[in-house]
Amino acid sequence: EYRSGSQIREDFLRFFETKGHRRVHSSSLVPANDPTLLFTNAGMNQFKDVFLGAEKREYSRAASSQKCVRAGGKHNDLENVGFTRRHHTFFEMLGNFSFGDYFKKDAIAYAWELLTSPEWFGIDKAKLYVTIFEGDAAVPRDAEAYQFWLDVGVPAERIFEMGAADNFWAMGDTGPCGPCSEIYYDLGIAASETGEDLPFPKDEQRYVEIWNLVFMQFDRSVTANGPVLAPLPKPSIDTGMGLERVSAVLQGVLSNFETDLFTPLIKRAEQLTGHKVEADHEVDDRSRASLRIIADHARAATFLISDGVLPANEGRGYVLRKILRRGIRHGRLLGQEKPFMHEMVFAVRDEMGVAYPELKESAERVAKVVLAEEQQFARTLELGLRQMNEETLRSGALAFRLYETFGMPLDFMVDAARDAGIAFDMAGFDAAKEEEQQRARASWKGGSQKSAAPVYRELAKTEFEGYSALRVDGARV
Ligand code: ATP
Ligand code: MG
Ligand code: MG
Ligand code: MG
Repeated sequence: EYRSGSQIREDFLRFFETKGHRRVHSSSLVPANDPTLLFTNAGMNQFKDVFLGAEKREYSRAASSQKCVRAGGKHNDLENVGFTRRHHTFFEMLGNFSFGDYFKKDAIAYAWELLTSPEWFGIDKAKLYVTIFEGDAAVPRDAEAYQFWLDVGVPAERIFEMGAADNFWAMGDTGPCGPCSEIYYDLGIAASETGEDLPFPKDEQRYVEIWNLVFMQFDRSVTANGPVLAPLPKPSIDTGMGLERVSAVLQGVLSNFETDLFTPLIKRAEQLTGHKVEADHEVDDRSRASLRIIADHARAATFLISDGVLPANEGRGYVLRKILRRGIRHGRLLGQEKPFMHEMVFAVRDEMGVAYPELKESAERVAKVVLAEEQQFARTLELGLRQMNEETLRSGALAFRLYETFGMPLDFMVDAARDAGIAFDMAGFDAAKEEEQQRARASWKGGSQKSAAPVYRELAKTEFEGYSALRVDGARV
């Protein structure tokens, strides 16, 4: 039977309530007590001090649906959005947590029951794969997890051993850490570039990671002889499952963007940009990506502004500004040059306001902030277009200045160069961008960041003659 994304969210929370978990509301996207973190990017963030033993709660089991943003910072999925089936800048992470209460055995049994029991999600077991940590010099192979997966009925040939990159988690260089087990779903399509049938885990498009179970088992400290892992007196559980991904699985669609969490937003984006994409029309792939990006970025911008972030030239506000401008730019790629993103805010509120009542309070204010940014960006584009000339197009470094300073989209410049018969200096542009990213990373240290983005600057003022002839169809974002 059909289950909406909202029902799936609710079923997840209800399932864990039946297992004695306290339902806890999502925390803000702006981390409360962690200046090292750009945005909340996992369900466990709000419980960090509980895991560390520095904070006590009146419950030892919790479940939540956490607002997460992975754009900028350590996890950055911004460039993936629109081009993979499974990445968003904003997504909801469903999680169950044990603070020194149950451990591996129960965490595995709960996850398997929820996913496969006909009373709950009823997913076909033959489509699921699980992974365990293969072990390394410091930590042995996770033989316990392996056994518990066998115990719940996963056949040995569906349990895969993976390295630390995917299957070992650490809170930081020191502190709680431990192996993970991840659950993957086989979408059943040979989606690799060659169209070949590849076995797990070789095809990222076909085998989608849906749930990560983290077993916080060790306390890592650094001594003169190197890192030492001591067993935690009270091992804990932290899990995260993307609501959008599990919804795609349960709704039988191949992409998160085809779930009911996104289709109304995409439809609204079509209305607002006046651009309708025909189903399965190859030529429209770029337009489809643009609509997905608008839907995704509208969610991210709405939730970020609702949680108190404002567009700015540095830090969190800069990431928000980038997200908004990218959304606006994709509207332009679809032919919409007037402000439209602020209208998307109300669509997001209509879809998500029940689960996140804070949106109902803030939508009007959020829409005003978005509109102001849209109006400013329109002026920026006008200014930027005036600064664009042969010289800036020939020099990647100058082009990057335009991109950073005026938010001048790369597509515009690449296209303008093409029209003017100039070879765009992509290598120089990429080098300048890389340099800037390193500066931005270095500047995000414990909240004491210096200005990460340059302020508006006067550039040589030469009119670019051919700009009225620009065609805007680049897909590079
Ligand atoms: P991936 O390998 O697909 O990038 P991940 O390993 O980075 O995912 P985790 O950090 O393990 O993800 O987060 C737990 C879960 O959150 C994932 O299993 C996935 O379901 C979901 N998730 C992670 N990143 C995203 C994202 N950008 N958009 C949507 N869901 C996500
Ligand atoms: Mg990732
Ligand atoms: Mg992964
Ligand atoms: Mg993972």
